[in-house]
Amino acid sequence: MLEDEILGNLYQKLPVTLEKGLGSHVWDIDGNEYIDCMGAYGVAITGHRNQRVNNAIKNQIDKIISVHSSFYNKTRENFLETISHVAPKNLSNVYLGNSGTEAIEAAIKFSRKYTGKKGMIAMKGSYHGRTMGSLSLTFTPKYKKSFEPMVENTQFSEFGNITDLESKINSETGFIILEPIQGESGIHPAPDGFLQQVRKLCDEKNIVLVFDEVQCGLGRTGKMWACENWNVIPDILCTSKGLAGGIPFSATLTKSEILDSMEKGEQSSTFGGNPLACAASAATLTALTDDGLIDNAAKIGSLLWSGLEKLKNKHKIIREIRGKGLMIAIEFEIDVRELLLRAIEQRIIFLFSLYSDKNILRLLPPLVLTENDVSEILRVLDEIISNEENIQKN
Ligand code: PLP
Repeated sequence: MLEDEILGNLYQKLPVTLEKGLGSHVWDIDGNEYIDCMGAYGVAITGHRNQRVNNAIKNQIDKIISVHSSFYNKTRENFLETISHVAPKNLSNVYLGNSGTEAIEAAIKFSRKYTGKKGMIAMKGSYHGRTMGSLSLTFTPKYKKSFEPMVENTQFSEFGNITDLESKINSETGFIILEPIQGESGIHPAPDGFLQQVRKLCDEKNIVLVFDEVQCGLGRTGKMWACENWNVIPDILCTSKGLAGGIPFSATLTKSEILDSMEKGEQSSTFGGNPLACAASAATLTALTDDGLIDNAAKIGSLLWSGLEKLKNKHKIIREIRGKGLMIAIEFEIDVRELLLRAIEQRIIFLFSLYSDKNILRLLPPLVLTENDVSEILRVLDEIISNEENIQKN
């Protein structure tokens, strides 16, 4: 394939050429239809070809695509108003970028400037991106090994263990980052009580608390922000992936005093805040709140969950079901790559967790997933797992 020749060997490729999508379904170039449980790695939250988002993009391209943030723009203003209605309380300021990793890089710089402290703590199992700052905060050693040195003064603490976290804090610690639900590590929600404990610790020690909601935010868990599941608000919240319905975009939401500590020219992005992404994002946020997508994530998520629990009781090779809403992992006793390929043959696209021993199937479907989709997902899973168990027996 030309893509393999020219783009190198960076991505784990699946043997499908996707051409179009609608709602929770995608089609390949031969016209085969699939249920999309990967959702472009969690980007396609509003569903493919969402009318609200598509219309907003079409309207905007007929006006103007590029307006640098050194000019004012009404589409950007409208987006800022929209996001301010859904932002967690007190996170009233926003920095705009283009990807998850950029949202994290901005959070690192803002915190350093605000606190004057360089020490950072992230969690074991974390994933925050691939640029040097966010990569430094990403746990998996093999992602970093060939690119060292990483940003100095970075430590990793046990996710969910407040005693371990407390023991790692020193006078130079100014920044603690975590995903309320770890994504790449295979969907691990923070244990109940942990986020509250971390919040208290950060308040006592004057540490900026950053939540990375790039994967778990934007309605996926049945709440606009995953942290709402535990009623804890960070000092900075990073969001990206589906924020602009598939157009590259990110927002670093901060308390005003944090962004206020930055001076002109200390952070910027050529594309950040461009009207195309802003138009798409305002429509995306409206789709989430006004078209019932967040409620659907909760409702369909719990339907899927109860079906998966039944499969777990039936099939011994399923070890655990984890997650919230439409952010779900199925952990197996076995390598899941064969299951993934068998599912594609049966027209369902899953995701696996790169981080683990490849024994986790991950579901990050569009939030418009339907009851019919759930029935089909459960039917196919039941069938391919039974086949796998038969192969193992023989
Ligand atoms: N943070 C989390 C939690 C993610 O899941 C990801 C990507 O999967 C990122 C950050 C990095 O986002 P991007 O790939 O857009 O740079």
